[in-house]
Amino acid sequence: ILRVDNLTKTYASAGHELTVLQAVSFELQPADTFAIVGPSGSGKTTLLGLCAGLDRATSGSVWLNGIQLDSLSEDQRAAVRNQHVGFIFQNFQLLPTLTALENVLVPLELRGQRGAAKTALALLDRVGLADRAQHYPAQLSGGEQQRVSLARAFANRPAVLFADEPTGNLDPDTSERVVSLLFDLNREAGTTLVLVTHDLDLAARTQRTMRLRGGAVLADYANAAHAQPSA
Ligand code: ATP
Repeated sequence: ILRVDNLTKTYASAGHELTVLQAVSFELQPADTFAIVGPSGSGKTTLLGLCAGLDRATSGSVWLNGIQLDSLSEDQRAAVRNQHVGFIFQNFQLLPTLTALENVLVPLELRGQRGAAKTALALLDRVGLADRAQHYPAQLSGGEQQRVSLARAFANRPAVLFADEPTGNLDPDTSERVVSLLFDLNREAGTTLVLVTHDLDLAARTQRTMRLRGGAVLADYANAAHAQPSA
């Protein structure tokens, strides 16, 4: 579902080149759960952006759902994102001119789903935000916006969901709720989860963890004890 081959990213800044990712490779199957960990500045967010087609690698390849992203134009990559990808990003989330409800409703309506309004409200209720349905993103806290993004991901049922620090600014209760919902989406829709996190407990709940340091893969291992909650 996601294949990353020898990915390298170099930024040119202040007259010199900075390589922030070096020869990163991995491959994920549908419904896999994967965590990317590593110190601040190790390239986690950059890697996530390349995998999700938000940015282009300097060299190497990314295949998402069988589509090679490297040779695509920005518009073509946006189309692939809209069709196959969900995001829980700190700064790349909701449409600001739409209410929480509308943000969840739009993908359902685009698919021509019957009873879309009712479904959208049920999804907001599921993330505990039925009472914020008419709020605009700017009127929601960061954690609430993240939960609306999750409700939207449930509406979209993307092949792959990329989450950057999904629990980063949440209190423990909300954090647990968001994480449970992420794994629910994985189980119910077969969505592949790719999480960037500093939270090693969260990483250990995925099937596999990749550790980056200085843009290179330091380790890539199966999480033996990954909690597979029984249905
Ligand atoms: P954190 O845990 O702090 O979010 P990270 O592991 O996600 O860090 P990245 O955000 O991927 O790290 O950044 C990796 C490196 O790339 C950093 O040194 C950063 O300063 C640099 N970097 C990121 N974006 C750019 C850019 N647009 N231009 C130049 N350098 C950049």
